[in-house]
Amino acid sequence: MTNAKAYAATSPESPLGEITIARRDLTEDDVQMEILFCGICHSDLHQVRNEWKEVMATVYPCVPGHEIVGRVTAVGPKVTKFKVGDIGAVGCMVDSDGTCQNCKDGEEQFCPSCVFTYNFPDKHTGKVTYGGYSDSIVVKDRFVLKVPAGLDLAGVAPLLCAGITTYSPLHHWKVGPGKKVGVVGLGGLGHMGVKFAHALGAHVVLFTTSPNKKDDALRLGADEVVVSKNPEEMAKHAGSFDFILDCVSADHDINALLNLLKKDGNLTLVGAPEKPMAVAAFALLFGRRSLSGSPIGGTVETQEMLDFCAKHNITADVEVIPIQKVNEAYDRLLKQDVKYRFVIDMASLKG
Ligand code: NAP
Ligand code: ZN
Repeated sequence: MTNAKAYAATSPESPLGEITIARRDLTEDDVQMEILFCGICHSDLHQVRNEWKEVMATVYPCVPGHEIVGRVTAVGPKVTKFKVGDIGAVGCMVDSDGTCQNCKDGEEQFCPSCVFTYNFPDKHTGKVTYGGYSDSIVVKDRFVLKVPAGLDLAGVAPLLCAGITTYSPLHHWKVGPGKKVGVVGLGGLGHMGVKFAHALGAHVVLFTTSPNKKDDALRLGADEVVVSKNPEEMAKHAGSFDFILDCVSADHDINALLNLLKKDGNLTLVGAPEKPMAVAAFALLFGRRSLSGSPIGGTVETQEMLDFCAKHNITADVEVIPIQKVNEAYDRLLKQDVKYRFVIDMASLKG
């Protein structure tokens, strides 16, 4: 084991602070990385504050972070994909059984033995996995992605969760030219959803509760912006959407959004609010609409997404912060005051 510096929460109420954690010795197919940048996902905040206790209760200390870009510092003897000095990236998963059909298909997020990057039982240490708010990490090579050359590395980090989580359902639901697509909530996920839906050629409408984000939404690729608190603006779009991607982190009126779908339209939830939502049956019955969800994406699609980003010159819009400002960033996230992803410069953890 080697010691690593990290930032952790020790209870749902406590601010994050510095601790020392142990990283495992390299096994034959492991990659060790010095972490350069780590994005702050709203999931980190949900998990740190134990808001998902019914589904995945938080084990403390909790080291969050699953939008990781780093430089390879060592590789196990069987690793051929990376060599020391390469840039690699890690998202929400660090292990899976590797043998089930989902793993064979590169859709490890559906593997029954999928291991998340933090707060998940860790067979190597007997504790839980610790995420990317840290100076180093050791990850099985399958879960380390190649970062295409030429992209800004701070802007790449959020692609590993916010990017793939929005890219995957847009592809699954065949978003492209001729489709009217709604993206709800202009935060980390939402701003990537707007960029991708625009790059895929759809007509993109951004729904926001923050009127001051209108100009940014248009710049990021939205064709129209609707302030969702305004019933008249909403009514203009009734029954007109092929697909809506809901990226909202808190309780909101899902029925008002379902009513905007046309016949056979789909609303996919990627946002994961703490509390269950009440769905009105008639919002689905009329128009044979459907409501579904989507978790992150597998390694194959994540690599495809990174390559798509290189081709279309897409990265996240980021505010780079030192790790000492992480608690302030969490407060600002709750005030919807992020443009549009905080990314920690991990050099700030040195010294
Ligand atoms: P974020 O940056 O905080 O963005 C969330 C956005 O939701 C806000 O910027 C705001 O946009 C909107 N919003 C917040 N409170 C709202 C409310 N009460 N009513 C309506 N809109 C509200 O969060 P994020 O990192 O993008 O994450 C979004 C959600 O996705 C979180 O719940 C996160 O846990 C989840 N997530 C899921 C997956 C997955 O695999 N499915 C992966 C990553 C994250 P406006 O200001 O534009 O209204
Ligand atoms: Zn995330």
